[in-house]
Amino acid sequence: MENFFALFPRYGKLFSTVWKTRPVPPPLLFFGCCCSFAYPLCFVSCPLTPPLLPMSLLPQLRVCVLASGSSGNCIYVESATTALLIDAGISARQTLKRMALAGLDPAKLSAICITHEHSDHTVGLRTLSRKLDVQLYANGETARHLRNGDGLHWNIFTSGSPFTIGDIELMPFPLPHDAYDPVGFVLTCGASRLGIATDLGMPTSVARERLRGCQLIILEANHDVELVQSSLRPWSLKQRILGRHGHLSNEVAAELLADIAGDTLQQVFLAHLSRECNELGRALHAVRTHLHGVGLGHIRVLPTHPDKPSDFAEC
Ligand SMILES: [Zn+2]
Ligand SMILES: [Zn+2]
Repeated sequence: MENFFALFPRYGKLFSTVWKTRPVPPPLLFFGCCCSFAYPLCFVSCPLTPPLLPMSLLPQLRVCVLASGSSGNCIYVESATTALLIDAGISARQTLKRMALAGLDPAKLSAICITHEHSDHTVGLRTLSRKLDVQLYANGETARHLRNGDGLHWNIFTSGSPFTIGDIELMPFPLPHDAYDPVGFVLTCGASRLGIATDLGMPTSVARERLRGCQLIILEANHDVELVQSSLRPWSLKQRILGRHGHLSNEVAAELLADIAGDTLQQVFLAHLSRECNELGRALHAVRTHLHGVGLGHIRVLPTHPDKPSDFAEC
């Protein structure tokens, strides 16, 4: 049962809530669950029986990070009725291949939302938009720098103003990064909130406030500072990565998560890891150790990969 709650942390909360409010002895709860001829009892006694779960507390969003890292970024998000991509930073062929690997149907996609114009977030955009019947979303500056005379039709959003795609509301918020007008997103569906921030040189107060209250966050843990400093990269590139408009280190990502976790954050994907200046094990260890040290060891810290889809997560 503990394993079940570790996988679906929200059910843990539900379980304790329903347990407190139901005048049913604990043995009957499990009798109702496990005995098929007593199934009607489930509707009376079992806190895990779907009809008794308030819909607003069920997970509404399902997420798979199809690719993450400086070689390409693409995140799949779906609700019951809407599916979209955040960024299209791998080739269209790779995007479709990884969706197939993850058991996802590209025909369900209705939109691609772009965070910023860098090629590791946009390289597959043109071919995907030709192959699929999808709407494209970006803010004005990003769209202007991606237009390039190719006739792409953009739906323009403004940083700080929410917009909706199907039953998902997206709130774009500004991030400090060396692009024209880069954004992160908070996606909301019912009571579910997913935060995405993958290219930011530092955690601004706006980013902290937007990401606070999310149950699931996809956050950049780009580099280990020592590995950057000892790498053979040119000094100017090191300055760019470590600067206020570059990328987040493992340590700063961990501090940010600890600050914004509150009671709601349950799961985190570590994203956009540098191939040369980070290691997956190092990033996971740094973030897990920090969260554990501040009493947040219950938060699941999940890996993403440059070359294959992540596991699914729900919120
Ligand atoms: Zn970038
Ligand atoms: Zn990037």
